[in-house]
Amino acid sequence: MLAVSKTFGVQAVRTAWAAGQRAFGESYVQEALDKMSLLEDLSIEWHYIGPLQSNKSRVVAERFDWVHSISSLKTAQRLSLQRPADRAPLSVCLQVNVDAEASKAGVAESELMALALAVAALPRLRLRGLMCIPAPATGIEAQRAAFAKLRAMQQRLIAEGLALDTLSMGMSDDLEAAILEGSTWVRVGTAIFGVRPGAPIDLALA
Ligand SMILES: *Cc1c(COP(=O)(O)O)cnc(C)c1O
Repeated sequence: MLAVSKTFGVQAVRTAWAAGQRAFGESYVQEALDKMSLLEDLSIEWHYIGPLQSNKSRVVAERFDWVHSISSLKTAQRLSLQRPADRAPLSVCLQVNVDAEASKAGVAESELMALALAVAALPRLRLRGLMCIPAPATGIEAQRAAFAKLRAMQQRLIAEGLALDTLSMGMSDDLEAAILEGSTWVRVGTAIFGVRPGAPIDLALA
């Protein structure tokens, strides 16, 4: 389980850590960096799950262990170039626009194979698998359909020879469906920490 701590303060992270949680997900770069420096005494695996702007990619490459939200070769190439030599290759997932929604982030299914093969060849990244944020659906069967699609795409990539071990899918409202379809990371915020404040927090002021 990935505990999504975006917009929550360091005390919330410390409480979850004390309960045994070690992997935390963040969506806002500055908030995450502030949190990391205030939590240096804990050993935490940090996952970046938000949209990635090119001017922020260097710190993401330097400070995070995983990035779940890659949807372009350009971003992947940049992260690979910027990943420090003294760190393990950055674990990454490709975000797939699984419902082909017009305004949604993620690579289209038709472009996934080419992107996956290109990203897998980058020296400082380790392509682990796929991630999705499906359109909201009611009922576990409807929720499972999108996750089953992502799993099938993953199987096709594995059949092409890619060594993938990760399906990042499922959030507070659909994590049971995602687990039934083979999720390896459910990304859970609200169900752990409660309802989020609307905007990223400024830890410098907190
Ligand atoms: C915020 C967020 C989550 C967590 O969502 P909840 O519904 O609060 O569990 C998961 N994944 C991504 C990409 C997010 O941005």
